[in-house]
Amino acid sequence: MARFPHFGTPDRARRVAEADSVAVIGLGRFGSALALELMAGGTEVLGIDLDEDLVQSLNGELTQVVRADATKQEVLRQLAVDEFDRVVVAIGGDISASILTCSVLLSMGIPAIWAKAVDDQHGLILEQLGVHKVIYPEKDMGRRVAHLVRGAALDFIEIAPGYAMVKAPAPSAIQDRPLGETGLRKAHGVTVAAFQHGEDAWDNADTSTTLRAGDTILVVGKTRDAEAFAQLL
Ligand code: ATP
Repeated sequence: MARFPHFGTPDRARRVAEADSVAVIGLGRFGSALALELMAGGTEVLGIDLDEDLVQSLNGELTQVVRADATKQEVLRQLAVDEFDRVVVAIGGDISASILTCSVLLSMGIPAIWAKAVDDQHGLILEQLGVHKVIYPEKDMGRRVAHLVRGAALDFIEIAPGYAMVKAPAPSAIQDRPLGETGLRKAHGVTVAAFQHGEDAWDNADTSTTLRAGDTILVVGKTRDAEAFAQLL
């Protein structure tokens, strides 16, 4: 295994694959942030990248980090990547490397392949190949920031096309009486899912919840309704 100095033995990789684990291929800004967040949440991560410096910098931070060319099937097999249930391909700039890696993973029968696309064309190719989940980090973040910049929302996430969750200050129209008496759903088409009084811990909201000035709420609903609601004062 001299070619993979950070890898250890194939047996070790097999043990990682058996645990709650994800293989992350491409450890650029997106891939390394993803890998570190998975580790922070207790998931084992095998990280793979061509770049020796990146591999060195993440050595000790991930369960295993290996310098390798992920477009080569024999290399991925040697690394026991075929034993992982979940693999994320976070290669963006080199589109042919992204496509080749995904097609090798698909031929290995990995059950859940996630891949990052840099644009719609790249995403379309990945979808046509059969990649299970194509993600568009730049596009999604751009849209999210647009919603934040435009309105009073403190945070915004579109959970499904046309359906969003918004974090916003509780507007005065729904303060000081139980949510069940505000007619919120009828008037605004949204549901308050959770709330925070001042600095207290977040809690689930129900019809008996009474919000006060200064509370923060999580609202779910159609994107335009949730966004319009977040503009209320
Ligand atoms: P980011 O925005 O996440 O920094 P990017 O979209 O600019 O990344 P790239 O820099 O092209 O995408 O790729 C991310 C990482 O994938 C890089 O660190 C690169 O070394 C790695 N990579 C590219 N090709 C391969 C390959 N064939 N095998 C393994 N890793 C690869």
